[in-house]
Amino acid sequence: MNVQPKASHFIDGEYVEDTAGTPIDVIYPATGEVIARLHSATPQIIEQALNSAKRAQKAWAAMTGTERGRVLRRAADIMRERNRELSILETHDTGKPLQETLVADATSGADALEYFGGLTRSLTGEHIPLGGGDFVYTIREALGVCVGIGAWNYPTQIACWKGAPALACGNAMVFKPSETTPLSALKVAEILIEAGAPKGIYNVVQGYGDVGAALVTDPRVAKVSLTGSVPTGRKVYAAAAEGMKHVTMELGGKSPLIVFDDADIENAVSGAILGNFYSSGQVCSNGTRVFVQKGIKEAFLTRLTERLANVKIGDPMDEAVNFGPMVSEAQMNIVLGYIEKGKAEGARLVHGGARLDREGFYIQPTVFADVTDDMTIAREEIFGPVMSVLDFETEDEVMARANATEFGLAAGVFTNDLTRAHRVVAGFEAGTCYINTYNLAPVEAPFGGSKMSGVGRENSKLAINHYSEMKTVYVSMNDVEAPY
Ligand code: NAD
Repeated sequence: MNVQPKASHFIDGEYVEDTAGTPIDVIYPATGEVIARLHSATPQIIEQALNSAKRAQKAWAAMTGTERGRVLRRAADIMRERNRELSILETHDTGKPLQETLVADATSGADALEYFGGLTRSLTGEHIPLGGGDFVYTIREALGVCVGIGAWNYPTQIACWKGAPALACGNAMVFKPSETTPLSALKVAEILIEAGAPKGIYNVVQGYGDVGAALVTDPRVAKVSLTGSVPTGRKVYAAAAEGMKHVTMELGGKSPLIVFDDADIENAVSGAILGNFYSSGQVCSNGTRVFVQKGIKEAFLTRLTERLANVKIGDPMDEAVNFGPMVSEAQMNIVLGYIEKGKAEGARLVHGGARLDREGFYIQPTVFADVTDDMTIAREEIFGPVMSVLDFETEDEVMARANATEFGLAAGVFTNDLTRAHRVVAGFEAGTCYINTYNLAPVEAPFGGSKMSGVGRENSKLAINHYSEMKTVYVSMNDVEAPY
């Protein structure tokens, strides 16, 4: 498959190039080969994208919700029809196994387009009766031009999770993918045009952090939605605050997953596997601190290591493979550094722990046991396939330890005790919680973090509030009473 796009950017319904921009080499993580070359946006490209979005937005917002929804739902259908082709592209972009991308990327993007395409017809304000016949009505209005900035782990999904609610509310979007995975979002832009979207309402510009920063500070931009790390989130939030812009921040995590000794061990092991090794561990909501109650610790570790013996690591294009490489050499080296720290700080390596002896950026799924709260691997987000298993004795103890982190993205509990399950999730300081499962993110449910893990929510009806605002109209049915 030739994955070189026609040009780097997609603006006003067309591919646009400016080779004066800094080159961006797209590297296939399974081999380390350069598979495409793009260019970072120059100031002229950024200008073109913002102007086009600004121009297109008002007319798009003036269309009926039914018309806008039809475009989004058509785009969802096209994405589903092309799922295989889009999944192969996503695998080139990220290295994630095709077995995963076929079910988790274009399909998730299509779900968002379909869901928000369905909501457009019921976006309304309200009527508020007041005394003496007076009343207020509210008008739900689009914010204007929104900027989306993506991380590299789910390039298609992020492009749609931000684009679909933005467009549903009548906004235009300028989306900047991660420089590590620039290919997939271009297809989303192309498909929207094919589905009948007016030119300019969804533009894609490529670039490094400086391009993101230029977009965030532009006065034409009303809202910024970032998926990325906490350090980047801090910078972007601060820059957006200067212009009093709306923000959604989907940031990092170090989420706890608690397994009580009455849990179904097979399910708990499945949850821990999904919550640590899916996408080679490059998932923001991963439950990387697995607290296992002392009574079942050894049984849990035994089943976990037995099941990890069945992982199929290899060529991500082989549909039997379920574990691929890290997204980049840099990310692989970061993760290998954490594995060394785990060993040096005294954690017990029970599985994996090494780079694979083959081309590409492969690391074995890695499990450390006897991890303590103060170890670096238990405190910092690794963003790779490294699970820390920590022991605990009582519920009170584990709750205090689970919440003792600056992050608050997700949290999970495995137990068969009904009241304990609900008590534990009520006590979690996290935005997205799971009982007896882990890491599912259906579009119908709000997704996002508390504490340093973010602001706002993506998906669900709540996302509408983050991409629109209410205008209040007071209507008087009476004479105006003035004091003089
Ligand atoms: P990153 O923070 O390095 O980069 C994210 C994006 O921000 C990139 O597109 C980058 O070019 C851009 N950027 C960098 N500096 C910028 C600046 N000053 N102004 C504007 N934009 C700037 O993150 P990453 O390494 O691409 O992704 C991994 C991180 O993303 C992890 O921390 C992970 O937890 C997080 N993540 C969160 C979610 C979520 O939904 N909460 C989902 C996926 C990933």
